[in-house]
Amino acid sequence: MPGSPAALTSITLFAVARFPLLSVLVPPPVTQISPLITVFTLGDWQTNCHVVTSGNPGSKNCWIVDCGFDPDEMLDFIATDNLKPQAILLTHAHLDHIGGVDRILARFGKMPTHIHEGEAGYCSDPMLNLSAMIGMDTTCAEPDGLLKHGDTLTLDGTTWRVLHTPGHSPGGACFVHDESRQAVVGDTLFAGSIGRFDFPTSNRDLLKKSLNLLMTLPDDMTIYPGHGPTTTIGAERRSNPYINGGF
Ligand SMILES: [Zn+2]
Repeated sequence: MPGSPAALTSITLFAVARFPLLSVLVPPPVTQISPLITVFTLGDWQTNCHVVTSGNPGSKNCWIVDCGFDPDEMLDFIATDNLKPQAILLTHAHLDHIGGVDRILARFGKMPTHIHEGEAGYCSDPMLNLSAMIGMDTTCAEPDGLLKHGDTLTLDGTTWRVLHTPGHSPGGACFVHDESRQAVVGDTLFAGSIGRFDFPTSNRDLLKKSLNLLMTLPDDMTIYPGHGPTTTIGAERRSNPYINGGF
């Protein structure tokens, strides 16, 4: 019966089968590439550091987001998997997030390193990266890429937004991949807690604004904090006392 749904279905099936060229009119299935984030908890400060790959099975490219002290476990993982670090991204320049950066560069060679422009000069200054506060003189190579709020960074076709989230530190940055609902948020937001705002370079009011900005992200976004377990925006919106009660 021409025109009936059954007839249309059989015609469609027939046409594609009988005339293979017509199959080019059928769009291929959409395969969403979802970046993979592998977390390594490094050093005495138990800093979460991240190896990000695009999820494209044909690529070995990766980013390293933050690099704490004693990074060999993470660097061995990169070498063993034959990954190719393309860039280092820093959520901020506190000593426990930069302590291993020079080890990356020594092992894998020079590569672009990015930090928010609000912390330009911090990596090479023990006062600003807070290592001097505890009697250390931690430094690493100054990043050559200075980020602004709203910048985008691309890894194998996956595009990440840069959010400026100051408060814990002046140039705190989060890296957000909207499509896969994943964000690396540094020390701005933790599972059940928030970043300290009592350091000389901290600012409580700015941290509040930054947390409000993060709360504009969708509930199903997985967040990877700088310390402690992975969580979601929704879980923190529901149960984080600092989000709900303020501070
Ligand atoms: Zn910090």
